[in-house]
Amino acid sequence: MAEKIIMMASQRPAPPAVPAILEAPTGLLSDQLARPLHDLRISVTDRCNFRCVYCMPKAVFDSDYQYLPHTSLLSFEEITRLAQTFIAHGVEKIRLTGGEPLLRKNIEKLVGMLAELKTVHGKPLDLTLTTNASLLARKAQSLKDAGLQRITVSLDALDNATFQKMNDVDFSVDDVLHGIDVAHQVGLGPVKINMVVKAGMNDQEILPMARHFRNTPYILRFIEYMDVGASNGWKMDEVIPSAEVVSRIHAEMPLEPLSANYTGETAARWRYADGAGEIGLISSVSHAFCGDCTRARLSTEGKLYTCLFATSGHDLRALLRDGRSDAEISTVLAQLWRARGDRYSELRTNNTDGLPRSANKVEMSYIGG
Ligand code: SAM
Ligand code: SF4
Ligand code: SF4
Repeated sequence: MAEKIIMMASQRPAPPAVPAILEAPTGLLSDQLARPLHDLRISVTDRCNFRCVYCMPKAVFDSDYQYLPHTSLLSFEEITRLAQTFIAHGVEKIRLTGGEPLLRKNIEKLVGMLAELKTVHGKPLDLTLTTNASLLARKAQSLKDAGLQRITVSLDALDNATFQKMNDVDFSVDDVLHGIDVAHQVGLGPVKINMVVKAGMNDQEILPMARHFRNTPYILRFIEYMDVGASNGWKMDEVIPSAEVVSRIHAEMPLEPLSANYTGETAARWRYADGAGEIGLISSVSHAFCGDCTRARLSTEGKLYTCLFATSGHDLRALLRDGRSDAEISTVLAQLWRARGDRYSELRTNNTDGLPRSANKVEMSYIGG
């Protein structure tokens, strides 16, 4: 079932229409809810060597699963050209993701190409990447040398058996911890650690993870298990609300709230009262933050998604491959962002009868987390 859904996501409806009158970007786009375009997440591959139960469950992503052929993927030149267009409209932060981004061949080359771009204010981009760390120890130095600034690593447990139950490919905690240390040593810090909490599966690891990452240079962030995609069989009772995470940690290691670093920051920040560092809470289920959502997503095959929970994207690759000019693509992007009214998580929160569910939501591995 989910395979069909994902194939639907990769079918190509007509590309967005190009207006007759073109407009120059001002760097100041605003959508229907007055949200600027500030962040871009780029999925560089739909493949992954993990089978996290909440993202690419083995039952769906098995040996028969059809990944995108290489020709469907945006080339590095296409990604860079689109990135320039997004930047002209105000993007200052780019995150490379997937699937597992370090599986994309020569990813350092793409990092190098993006690192050369400047924001509309002439500053370097905030260029980051999210990884499962399986190849991080090997690649951290070359990523740093290419111009990557920071890195986020996913780690769902310290207990090896629990982690292996989550990643479902027997990858070990020690190898992730080693990757994190190497990333820190080469200067890809502050390294953030993402832990998706799934009730009954790894919530007993909240305290061990908090204890382990206190008094380290690393920032641990707890992510509520989300109903993204259509293959993970998400249920509300498998979500541990962030408030519960905070109260479990606070009972042993007192916490106090910190203010956000910037508008649109996805993680609520807390610090240990004894000065042992900070943690983040990403509460997309219990505390929707759509009002500040300034993120666009570019899928592996070049579709623009204006929400993580969207059911369809806008085919920017078609415009590139049809020989459209930068001005034409930029005008299309401006129109699409202005029309954006997405606020799925808020609707989910407000919907007392259940969720605005759709079987067609695209998978996280395709759209990029
Ligand atoms: N493979 C890389 C990784 O795992 O870090 C990058 C891609 S992954 C899709 C990006 C982030 O999305 C990871 O931190 C992952 O834990 C998170 N994620 C995936 N599925 C999720 C879900 N259903 N709910 C919450 N977070 C999820
Ligand atoms: Fe792979 Fe990341 Fe998804 Fe896990 S969360 S299956 S590592 S893409
Ligand atoms: Fe942004 Fe959509 Fe998530 Fe709301 S649900 S925060 S609009 S990605």
